[in-house]
Amino acid sequence: MDEATTDLAGKRLALHVCCGPCFLEPYDALVADAAEVAVVYFNPNIQPVEEYQHRRDTLIDYAQRCGVDIVELPYDPALWLEQVGPLARSPRERCRACYRLRLREVAHWAAENGCEAMTTTLTVSPYQDADAIAEEGDRAASEAGVEFVRRDFRERYSEAMRRSRDLGMYRQNYCGCVMSDLEAREQRERRRAESAGRSVARG
Ligand code: SF4
Repeated sequence: MDEATTDLAGKRLALHVCCGPCFLEPYDALVADAAEVAVVYFNPNIQPVEEYQHRRDTLIDYAQRCGVDIVELPYDPALWLEQVGPLARSPRERCRACYRLRLREVAHWAAENGCEAMTTTLTVSPYQDADAIAEEGDRAASEAGVEFVRRDFRERYSEAMRRSRDLGMYRQNYCGCVMSDLEAREQRERRRAESAGRSVARG
């Protein structure tokens, strides 16, 4: 992912946040550069609703302790299902459509709420497709008339994990949608089977 050098001095930035652990490092980096950072939680991909609420509340608990306000846009899993559901079995296209939906909504919110720029915490995770996020972010922002700030936060991932562990934050073990939950379960099963196989082989 190519990072554009965007000067954030004097700008109000909308930051799309996917969860508490991913908020920690990008927020600290951006708040040092921008005049103001408005934090927006919009994640209709997360299922079930209890998991959505748990991730949101984890973020809000931490943000409140730091004096940061969180703007929650309406949770609309039916919209996600309509726009992303048909691509459920093609992970690359599915995730791209999922980024598109979330970034578009946040870009529109940014334009309507006095932000000149927007970005997302999604790129802190090495499990996400940073190039697709950058492309969808550029497209969403330009449609809404704001600027997308390309920032690759992956080098901060281990620090984000360390901090979230030390803070006792809830850390989910799947990305968000039902398919990602199934895929993560299958992966854990495979790893368990492989490690059981190695133990038997060692005898
Ligand atoms: S795996 Fe994550 S990014 Fe991809 S579609 Fe599911 S929730 Fe969205």
